[in-house]
Amino acid sequence: MLKAKDVRKLLDWYREEKRDLPWRRTRDAYSVWVSEIMLQQTRVEAVKPYYAAFMKKYPNVKKLSEAQEDELIRIWEGLGYYSRVRNMHKAAMEVTVNHGGLFPVSYEVLKTLPGIGDYTAGAIASIAGGQNVPAVDGNVLRVYTRLCADDEEISNPKTVKRIREELLALMAKAEKEEDYSPGDFNSAMMELGATVCLPNGEPKCENCPLRKVCQAHKQGNMTEYPKKAPSKKRKIEQRTVFIMESTDGIALRKRPAKGLLAGMYEFPASAGHLSKKEATDYIKSLGYHPVTIKRIEDAKHIFSHIEWHMRAYLVRIDAILDPAKKDEKNAIFFVTQKERKEGFALPSAFAAYKKYFF
Ligand code: SF4
Repeated sequence: MLKAKDVRKLLDWYREEKRDLPWRRTRDAYSVWVSEIMLQQTRVEAVKPYYAAFMKKYPNVKKLSEAQEDELIRIWEGLGYYSRVRNMHKAAMEVTVNHGGLFPVSYEVLKTLPGIGDYTAGAIASIAGGQNVPAVDGNVLRVYTRLCADDEEISNPKTVKRIREELLALMAKAEKEEDYSPGDFNSAMMELGATVCLPNGEPKCENCPLRKVCQAHKQGNMTEYPKKAPSKKRKIEQRTVFIMESTDGIALRKRPAKGLLAGMYEFPASAGHLSKKEATDYIKSLGYHPVTIKRIEDAKHIFSHIEWHMRAYLVRIDAILDPAKKDEKNAIFFVTQKERKEGFALPSAFAAYKKYFF
């Protein structure tokens, strides 16, 4: 079990060694929130240019609340997990209406906003609000379970809840120490996980301020922590993607409002891997007449639980064969070159086919 003096050591290390990151130059709640949401599932280096562009365009919660959804999707393009930015938009509107445009810093209030879970609420409340609450993410769980040689599986919510309570108790003890700061404590745990107590390969224990009290280090089995339940196999979905060109432009459609890539644009596609003949029949079934159809490269995209294995065809169509056949569900529309240049965000799942679009 960690003690208050270990927290002090960790804070001294953090204040000396922390990386200079743009979002660490402020304690403004809105800026902390934007960075924390962007950093979910995304590397620091990848986030930096997005953070700069986002803060330039939406420097405060009011500006964000007034944004158009398409515009937001465009600025987020490449970061993935688009539900994050949709929730940010909803939260910004809620803050504008219900909190007078002032971004909240209370853990309890933050948790009521869309897209803000326990970790993000803890990070904002501690960094921007100075509230003594933990922020438990994957980095913190790894560091903590190694420090304590904790054998419980972190995939079990009960384990996370217990660790959170233990951290809360530790932070309450540390509060009495001079120069203690809850925001710095949470940031220090995350920083240690991101730069020293690394997830893949051996951690750099020789650089760790807590190695003398680390149980996993004592046992020499650091990489055995954290314990995780065996991961489930991803579901593989075969798809056939159609890049359909006509004099009106290139065909796109909008995905359903719920589920994978909700509300995003995509190329028309069919389930399964279709042969050229089947692909031609499919296009005709949509009401279009294919003049040429050419198989292009296959591609694969990995989501968290699903893998898309894509076969693709480049199709030239000359006219609508039978408008009555147009499948309303598919809601296909054509985007001109000018419109494409002005900005149409395509999910990174179609990265391999973007060269046919832009
Ligand atoms: S001593 Fe090593 S395993 Fe333990 S917390 Fe530090 S870096 Fe991680």
